Amino acid sequence: MQLPSLSDARKRSKKEVKTIDYKLNKEYQKIGLNKTYHVKTYGCQMNEHDTENIEGLLESIGFTKEEEMEKADVVILNTCSIRENAHNKAFGMLGRLKHIKEERPNLVIGVCGCMAQEEVVVNEILAKYRHVNFVFGTHNLYDLPRLIYENMDNSKTKIDVLSIEGDVIEGLPVKRANNFKAYVNIIYGCDKFCTYCIVPYTRGKQRSRKMEDILKEVEELKEQNYQEVTLLGQNVNAYGKDLDEGYDLSDLLIKVAETKIPRVRFITSHPWDFTDKMIEVIKKYPNIMPYVHLPIQSGSNRILKLMGRRYTREEYKELFNKLKKIPGISITTDIIVGFPGETEEDFNETLDMVNYCKYDSAFTFIYSPRVGTPAAKLYENDKTTLEEKEQRLYKLNELINNYSLLNNTKLVNTIQKVLVEGLSTKKGEVFGYTETNKLVNFKGDSDLIGKIVNVKILDAKSFSLDGELVE
Ligand code: SAM
Ligand code: SF4
Repeated sequence: MQLPSLSDARKRSKKEVKTIDYKLNKEYQKIGLNKTYHVKTYGCQMNEHDTENIEGLLESIGFTKEEEMEKADVVILNTCSIRENAHNKAFGMLGRLKHIKEERPNLVIGVCGCMAQEEVVVNEILAKYRHVNFVFGTHNLYDLPRLIYENMDNSKTKIDVLSIEGDVIEGLPVKRANNFKAYVNIIYGCDKFCTYCIVPYTRGKQRSRKMEDILKEVEELKEQNYQEVTLLGQNVNAYGKDLDEGYDLSDLLIKVAETKIPRVRFITSHPWDFTDKMIEVIKKYPNIMPYVHLPIQSGSNRILKLMGRRYTREEYKELFNKLKKIPGISITTDIIVGFPGETEEDFNETLDMVNYCKYDSAFTFIYSPRVGTPAAKLYENDKTTLEEKEQRLYKLNELINNYSLLNNTKLVNTIQKVLVEGLSTKKGEVFGYTETNKLVNFKGDSDLIGKIVNVKILDAKSFSLDGELVE
């Protein structure tokens, strides 16, 4: 039994990060034969990509995918702990799985992801959800074959969570969600410790993959005719800082762009680590998409300081203005309302920044206290009611949506390059994304999926565009 510990997870040392090549133990090779699996994923792109590795691992030991969770022999919940509602959803699903297991006692249930790294969650599983076979964390995903092998018997709930700084594991099997766009991890973990955020505790220390390993993966994807790669990390702009190699994100972007893969994206950028050289590189290479997700979190310097964000609104504006010089760029953001102690005045400063930046879109959240983080203590004395916070969120969303519509409207009558991703809910239509990551629906059939085509924009809404295919 290896229980998680947030206080161990908080520690950071100068210890060198190990790169370990994954190798499957032959003993486990056939344990999934004639059995099926289903993985339920919550949370961010990082989790979506982890699920691609989980599915790859399961298929490497013989399991086949089952689309209906109710029918699968093994169900894995890949959880997220960024906000309370993500927790609630996963626990709700565990409740549902309890009923399924009452009917099918041989069902094997595993829980992993960020929630597994929290003591409160694991203790709750041990107390109330004993139908779970095993819990593993973000640092030992590679161990899934062994965990299944050893925990199929349903005797008791096994906890195997490491609260370490983390290694870099190369060569994990991967079952990609589609065959034209792919996620590529470039950096794991986070050392920023924003005071509201649980990620540095659940994902370990900031650790970059070696450039040669990333480029090898991108080259392989290019050879398989992938059209787009998204370079992933909690803070991609810190790429390379933990290595002694003298390269950073701008150098990596150049090398990835030079593979000539048609589209390169990267997410997420912390404003603090954005350099002028990175901006120049984005400007220079046409296959680096003119799209930056630049979370601001708050427009109030007082709140930014309490959040530990390391920049002021003035510094953010300066960076924003430099980025805006990239032709056709779209910039999106994340905003938290109701951080402990946020006054109406602080909130108005956030609205003021939104009016200044006129974002293409934004993810907006009400602050959610996370056990073990510094802001959770401030929350104990927070006087602002949930109702007030909801009103702020409503007001903020209205403003954001107005700017989304305004920015989208500017695209009407232009021709946009769209990577077609699938069939729309409306019959006879397909959907895809522009270079600036805007959703477009237009008439077309499944032959177009995976292709980059020219689309004339005919109409704009806040969350999508309508268009028509042009030659
Ligand atoms: N690493 C990225 C960054 O720093 O911008 C984003 C990480 S997080 C998965 C995505 C977003 O969740 C954050 O940008 C923040 O707006 C939001 N978030 C994180 N912790 C939160 C909390 N405790 N309550 C509400 N929103 C939170
Ligand atoms: Fe969380 Fe801040 Fe790290 Fe983003 S940069 S993952 S918000 S601690």
